[in-house]
Amino acid sequence: MIVLGIESTAHTFGVGIVTDSESSFILADERAQYIPKQGGIHPREASRYMAEKAPTIVAKAFEKAGVRPSNLDAIAVALGPGLGPCLRVGATTARALASYFKKPLVPVNHAVAHVEIGLKLTGLKDPVVVYLSGGNTAVIAFVEKRYRVFGETLDIALGNLLDTFARETSLGPPYVVNGMHVVDRCAEQGKKFLKDFPYVIKGQDVAFSGLLTAALRAYKRGVDIHDICLSLREIAYNSVLEIAARCLMHTKKKEIMLVGGVAASPILREKFQAMAKKYNAEIGVVPPQYAVDNGVMIAWTGLLAYRSGIVIDPIKAIIRQRWRIDEADIPWR
Ligand code: MG
Repeated sequence: MIVLGIESTAHTFGVGIVTDSESSFILADERAQYIPKQGGIHPREASRYMAEKAPTIVAKAFEKAGVRPSNLDAIAVALGPGLGPCLRVGATTARALASYFKKPLVPVNHAVAHVEIGLKLTGLKDPVVVYLSGGNTAVIAFVEKRYRVFGETLDIALGNLLDTFARETSLGPPYVVNGMHVVDRCAEQGKKFLKDFPYVIKGQDVAFSGLLTAALRAYKRGVDIHDICLSLREIAYNSVLEIAARCLMHTKKKEIMLVGGVAASPILREKFQAMAKKYNAEIGVVPPQYAVDNGVMIAWTGLLAYRSGIVIDPIKAIIRQRWRIDEADIPWR
């Protein structure tokens, strides 16, 4: 079985082509990433960039894979969650391909795809999933036929916290250099832990906007930026660690999986490794290349879904900006 998948939820337009054969899993993995000239992602600008790149990226993927559209069994697309204008570029491309080549269209939830590619690549079976990216902070576990959210951020995501702080203080962009976030890097020289920063956990959820405000205020007061980064990082990472540990105890699962762009942080990984050891759990970290947004994860999840009979009429394949992971059916597990 060969499936093509399209990703366009945020800044990456990606096309992946995968098969269900173990020996030749990934046939193509093409990506174009929108990088804002300044500030954060401007959805409209990002979508314009994607619309421009889409034809080339699709053509490149076919060329790389050495397959023709007629060889495909299905076309998968991330219909959400994500930024509306960006999602529409992927959805339009996928609907056009599916209609023109008369191939089944498979709707994929982007967050589910992060989890499924993680399971495929780490070999874990039933982990507590810690999903950390620019737009997501969630602790997830598979319970009663769905990926359930055990805890999440009540306001901004962990990646957003780090990026915004870096941007407002001119530490970045670029935010990640050689796999280390600039805040992580800056924290290395921090000496003092600042006591007035809020550590917020409500029930099973975390919140970071108060922490961001406190950090920016300290910066304006002239507090040493290394100390700010150290305190910011420790509070942010440890709060996620705490809700993940609670989920582990609650679900009695024996595995933890880190996924998403922020999961690449070596500092965060060390913390989770120590925690996993303490609770006798196995830990798996999704390789950075596939921890960030990509078309391969959409293609792979599309393949799983298609094998379980999930297809959608292109006319009904509308985007869902707020499609939560716990609203997606997972019949293949
Ligand atoms: Mg993502």
